[in-house]
Amino acid sequence: MDLGIRGKRGLVCAASKGLGRGCAEALAEAGVDLVINSRTESEIVETARQIAERHGVCVTPVAADITTDEGRARVLEAAGQTDILVTNAGGPPPGDWRDWTREDFIRAIDANMLSAVALMQALVPGMMDRGWGRVVNITSQSVRSPIAALGLSNTARTGLTGFVAGMSRQVAGHGVCVNNILPGIHATDRAVSLDKGVSDKQGISLDQARQQRQATIPTGTYGDPGDFGAACAFLCSQQARFIVGQNLLLDGGALNVTI
Ligand code: NAP
Repeated sequence: MDLGIRGKRGLVCAASKGLGRGCAEALAEAGVDLVINSRTESEIVETARQIAERHGVCVTPVAADITTDEGRARVLEAAGQTDILVTNAGGPPPGDWRDWTREDFIRAIDANMLSAVALMQALVPGMMDRGWGRVVNITSQSVRSPIAALGLSNTARTGLTGFVAGMSRQVAGHGVCVNNILPGIHATDRAVSLDKGVSDKQGISLDQARQQRQATIPTGTYGDPGDFGAACAFLCSQQARFIVGQNLLLDGGALNVTI
């Protein structure tokens, strides 16, 4: 399917690997010129080179921490007029609700709620002026069903979801569609580090921890970052113009819910 976005300009945050990279690859395949970001310079530069070579689009890497004002300023300067925004950042660490301090909450809310809000505040007004835009926020299945050890993530991402629910309806009349994708467990470094948390806590091997977590998913597998990226690219397509303020759960059926 032609997504109708060849020649558009996109910004994908936290994209040197994992889900962000999956989104960058799929948008590049659809012909979108990209600015991509993550903190480790050598990795983001190499990722940009590979994506540009594979898909024949222009890809500009920016090494910066997207959760800081200074990092966002540098990313936004490189991005300029952007038609497509994918917000993403590393997730908060697991832990116990009894231990989290105010500073822990502020850090998580800054990283997984307010940095996405700030990026939308910076870029969506320009999209509205030009009459076209797409925003996809990478959140988590924890928005629909809390994950006990990830209370910091549950809290911050639910806040972002509430913000998007309201603002997406205010910008849709200007041709801008804002939606969220909620990943269940995908085969990325983040999944390995959470496997490791389970293996350490239960005194089992990494392999056993993965099998245990896979068994909670009806497909019996972890999700593929490339498939995740394809869903993101569709939400950024022309054909997604009637999809507004939605939360697309990609979890292999893991959440046992009717809607
Ligand atoms: P990943 O494979 O660990 O990749 C994270 C990417 O983000 C890397 O490119 C990393 O590069 C970059 N990054 C991390 N912190 C950053 C920051 N502050 N500023 C800029 N770039 C940053 O993680 P993932 O699995 O793709 O997860 C992406 C998001 O989805 C996370 O928020 C995660 O919690 C959430 N999520 C993932 C899953 C899953 O199963 N994979 C499930 C639910 C939710 P640098 O380290 O070089 O910056």
